[in-house]
Amino acid sequence: MIVVLTGAPGAGKGTQADLLVERQGYKKISTGDALRNQIKGGTELGKTASQFMEKGELVPDALLLDILKSELSAVAGHKVLLDGYPRNLDQAKTLEGLAAEWTVGKAIHLDVESKQLVERLSGRRTCLNCGATFHMTMNRPEKEGICDKCGSGLTQRPDDEVKKVQTRLTVYEKSTEPVLDFYRSKGVYVRVDGLGSTEDVYSRLLEAL
Ligand SMILES: [Zn+2]
Repeated sequence: MIVVLTGAPGAGKGTQADLLVERQGYKKISTGDALRNQIKGGTELGKTASQFMEKGELVPDALLLDILKSELSAVAGHKVLLDGYPRNLDQAKTLEGLAAEWTVGKAIHLDVESKQLVERLSGRRTCLNCGATFHMTMNRPEKEGICDKCGSGLTQRPDDEVKKVQTRLTVYEKSTEPVLDFYRSKGVYVRVDGLGSTEDVYSRLLEAL
């Protein structure tokens, strides 16, 4: 059985997915990791995918699907958590038609209101030197603008500027809403409130599962 985990950028999806893997024995498949694995492994699929990525193009759906199938086969018999897929309605429908053992049993939407997401994302500051991340209100560095770990200056990733965050969220909602509707119609959709501490959200998530 597959559990699809969805959530906007900043909703805390990655953290929750990691906990499910650690504590519940899920195998996580994220399309981003899957792509990197195939490329690193020098597989045929990886080679084809990197040709698109080098040109700055999106990896076509059909190729992404082949990669996904290969990853799914590798974890046959396990509980699978799908992260970052399906991203649109076409992908959701394709996934549905794959095979009985890959049926989506639950589609969980980690829901955080967009005002909150904008605050979470736009407050992030990153250290270019060591990669540590801080937050202007939730996880302040000891000295304003300076990395606690290595003493380098902190910067805001261009992606995290308020305007760009808003655009990212709008794009995300537009493509995801039809996916959520699809899973609602299948009766497997569950909304989980993503506000609160990591552990609070995690226990809601467990209940939903
Ligand atoms: Zn640093």
